[in-house]
Amino acid sequence: RDAAGLVSGLAYGPRRKQNRFERTVVPDRFENTRDTDPALHANIEWAEKIASRIPGSKLGADVVAENMVNSDAEARKVVQSVAAAAKEWAARTGKERAQVLRSVAQAIEDHRGELIEVAGSEAGKAIDQGDVEVSEAIDFALYYADLAEELDSLEGAAYVPVSTTLVTPPWNFPIAIPAGGVLAALATGSGVVYKPAKLTRRTGSFLAKLMWEAGVPRDVLALVCMDKSSYGRVLVEETDQTILTGSIDTARMFRSWRPDLRLFAETSGKNAIIVTPNADIDLAVKDVVYSAFGHAGQKCSAASLVILVGSVGFSKRFQRQLCDAVRSLKLGHPHDLAAQMGPMVEPPHGKLLKGLTELGEGEAWAIKPRKIDDKLWSPGVRAGVMPMSEYHLTEYFGPILGVMRADTLGEAIAWQNAVDFGLTAGLHSLDPDEISAWLDQVQAGNVYVNRGITGAIVRRQPFGGWKRSSVGAGTKAGGPNYLIGLGHVEWADKDL
Ligand code: GLU
Repeated sequence: RDAAGLVSGLAYGPRRKQNRFERTVVPDRFENTRDTDPALHANIEWAEKIASRIPGSKLGADVVAENMVNSDAEARKVVQSVAAAAKEWAARTGKERAQVLRSVAQAIEDHRGELIEVAGSEAGKAIDQGDVEVSEAIDFALYYADLAEELDSLEGAAYVPVSTTLVTPPWNFPIAIPAGGVLAALATGSGVVYKPAKLTRRTGSFLAKLMWEAGVPRDVLALVCMDKSSYGRVLVEETDQTILTGSIDTARMFRSWRPDLRLFAETSGKNAIIVTPNADIDLAVKDVVYSAFGHAGQKCSAASLVILVGSVGFSKRFQRQLCDAVRSLKLGHPHDLAAQMGPMVEPPHGKLLKGLTELGEGEAWAIKPRKIDDKLWSPGVRAGVMPMSEYHLTEYFGPILGVMRADTLGEAIAWQNAVDFGLTAGLHSLDPDEISAWLDQVQAGNVYVNRGITGAIVRRQPFGGWKRSSVGAGTKAGGPNYLIGLGHVEWADKDL
């Protein structure tokens, strides 16, 4: 589990040195506005009620959906109320906001277990995956706190936040991705409307509650749930900008509603790892397996293809070792400590079901996926994937890995780049010439050499894609420009 250890690296450091967190609770100066806005007030009560039933709650997502779905009119009122409260939040210094973010980091750390529990129950996350996600959320809080302080001292310029930011995260990272978006926007001084993914609303409400308790004013961060059929259109229309992690189709839909939308979207991926004859094969196998099957392959960053170059493809060794490793993965319930792969979030359907059950021309199952129950399927390996075939070009978002062969590294790079997306990409080779040739040509936002391709580390590996993996401003989450991108910089000297 080295990959997991790596991700945790940044957060575990400060975690041991508890003095890194100054637990400063900034008084909530906005309490009184709660009484004036019933819609906002109802949302706060609802989120607190849901969150208080964690862990071990039997309350399912359907009950939540029944109980608390905001109408368009309520959602509009919430946005107005957040905009009003955000004025005072923006008037605080970056340093003051940073203190709140550091308190949030501590609160997330203090509730690591409950967060892992609720993300496991709702999203099927195995414990090790939930654990690194909590660490990533803490990293976001600490990093954006540092950046918020820098906003106070921009040279020759003033930083002006927008008033309201909509954060609409996915279900596959229900802790780290919303935490990243919400805390980035808050760090800039913007108010936030947070719409958790429908499948992970309990995790979302628990996270919001932790943030409020750590000092984020309750009316600066509002949690809103919308009816699935509306997709939260009113929120996209009424807020100043949107941070989305989701599919390219969702990003396009948002844009169609509002062509001038300020959108920061991280979208789909179809990611491959190349393994050359100069690779450390043992390491490559381990990294490919973790990247392909961690969280049952349900990551935008996951490896969906491995491209074997020259003799690696023709000798049996790599594929045999790969298949042994895949067969040895322990499947199980997300709360089983030993489980390395848990269930999918929903029973597979459509494209994913096809990917788990049907082969394309020239393909054969090296390991055929087996249905264990509705959501839990054993991982599949599909050999003989042909260039430009359906499998080569399609994102499946599930526990399947395709194997392709290429004669040369150049050919492998051409196939790695042939997809519409460009989110993550990997190379396993110990040859410096191969590494530099690959780095010159690869078309992806996050490129990794001799490492798995999931688990980008905040500050060290800012996350975001090329091509259809990113829509909008393109600044990378967890990187130095993210907060600047979310607001406006006003230069003192207008001629600059
Ligand atoms: N940031 C995550 C990673 O590096 C992926 C996020 C996603 O799937 O959207 O693995």
